[in-house]
Amino acid sequence: MAMAMARVARQVAGRRSFKVERSSMFEVVNPATGKVMGELPEEGNAEVLAKFEALVAGQKRWRTVPVAERRAMLERFNELLRLNMPALAKTLTMEMGKPIAQAKNEVRATVDRVRFYLENYEKVLKESSVLETSILKEKVIYEPLGVVANISAWNYPYFVSTNVFAAALLTGNAVLYKPSEHATLTGFEITRLLYEAGVPNNVFAMTTGRGETGAAVASLKGLGGLFFTGSYKTGQQIAKQSAPNLVKLQLELGGKDPVYVRADVPNIAAAAASIADGAFYNCGQSCCSVERVYVDKRIYNEFLDAFVKNIMSFKVGDPLKSETYIGPVARQPHLPYLAAQVQDAVSKGARATSHTGLDSNQGGFFFPPTVLSEVNHSMDVMKDESFGPLIGIQAVENDAQALTLMNDTPYGLTASVYCKNSQDAENILRELEVGTGYWNCCDRVSPRLPWSGRKGSGLGVTLGMDGLRSFVQPKGILLQNPSNKE
Ligand code: NAD
Repeated sequence: MAMAMARVARQVAGRRSFKVERSSMFEVVNPATGKVMGELPEEGNAEVLAKFEALVAGQKRWRTVPVAERRAMLERFNELLRLNMPALAKTLTMEMGKPIAQAKNEVRATVDRVRFYLENYEKVLKESSVLETSILKEKVIYEPLGVVANISAWNYPYFVSTNVFAAALLTGNAVLYKPSEHATLTGFEITRLLYEAGVPNNVFAMTTGRGETGAAVASLKGLGGLFFTGSYKTGQQIAKQSAPNLVKLQLELGGKDPVYVRADVPNIAAAAASIADGAFYNCGQSCCSVERVYVDKRIYNEFLDAFVKNIMSFKVGDPLKSETYIGPVARQPHLPYLAAQVQDAVSKGARATSHTGLDSNQGGFFFPPTVLSEVNHSMDVMKDESFGPLIGIQAVENDAQALTLMNDTPYGLTASVYCKNSQDAENILRELEVGTGYWNCCDRVSPRLPWSGRKGSGLGVTLGMDGLRSFVQPKGILLQNPSNKE
């Protein structure tokens, strides 16, 4: 099985087409060319159930495997990620269009995330004594959840899946992994490397397919936990699918992440460069991409000029070229969605400035990086997740107005403030309904900090010590000594 997976990935990296026969199939498309690279099987209820049942049996043994053995396998996996980084990055670029330099960055940074888990997971498994007298002992022990499902998005397929499966495996859970249909080849690579590292195939198993396969996973009876990363809309569906089974549910969903640039920001040009990167890196397809910018009206024009200058300097084009900063969007249907946001804003008075360096014969799913100025909250671009190379920049009167507008969203993933003084920034960040706040930076994820959302951005936590705790459950043990009476 692992060898077949490797073959699929190698074929793609070598630009040859592939096909694995099954009754129902889905296409893998290269977004940079729009060409179909091959087809993969769409697994249904029966395949999903068979894998789940094998995992239930495997988890019973896995939870008893000494922690040192589990650690050794994940250490080996991390080493394999590092050693295979260029090939893994190439597969990722070809199936979802991430520029190759950014694909390499993702694989490299995944190694750091797994390392954080390796260094800390034993702490959350440690039992604690809460009472000890001559007649009574009370303690808390921590157990794995069982078999957990990991239904994943395509935009950072290494990050969002390892956030779940690395922590889950280390803490004694088995994992049923459903990568996105737009990042399935990366899913195969991950699975192959885990098996090569020694993780048994009845402890980690992957299922391939689109939404229906995801629904089959989410509806499984007996899951110990369901960890989903994806859109708000699918998150709601997953919550409905899993509700009858009362499964522990975590949802890492979309965002409409705002940035506020105050008049006292020390360096307007540096802030503009940092925010442009936060908005357009990965073609704006990060859950924590900057999606809205509010700038004090006294520095609005200067900031806008500096911002647009940055956008124009971005190299747009073939994502396999090392100098490319902006590639295609991953999915064709997203092009008309982005165009509609621009049209809506312009029809209501916004000004659009688009990158001029895009070759019109380019082919593929390219959208010109676009800045919308003179925007307001009557426009879709300031309310609905764009998830592409598009940004709205609005002038504000003062902190109070910035705060009101930043909170005026159904989402709550991250927010940042660019200003002179960290205390001023913190005062604003504490008032914002978000899971992560930044001062003078944005679009970042630290493995040491909890990653969570407020409102429509989700439920639960990954990363940080809180994230590790998401994969264990406490059990209270009360021991009374019958021979001792007080
Ligand atoms: P998506 O919701 O379309 O798909 C996510 C996964 O769910 C895929 O594996 C898909 O096959 C599966 N799926 C689709 N329909 C399903 C159904 N009815 N039942 C069960 N599973 C189903 O999302 P996407 O386009 O892959 O990812 C982009 C979204 O993910 C954006 O909104 C982005 O902000 C969000 N995201 C959030 C985070 C975070 O940490 N909060 C991280 C990455 C991405």
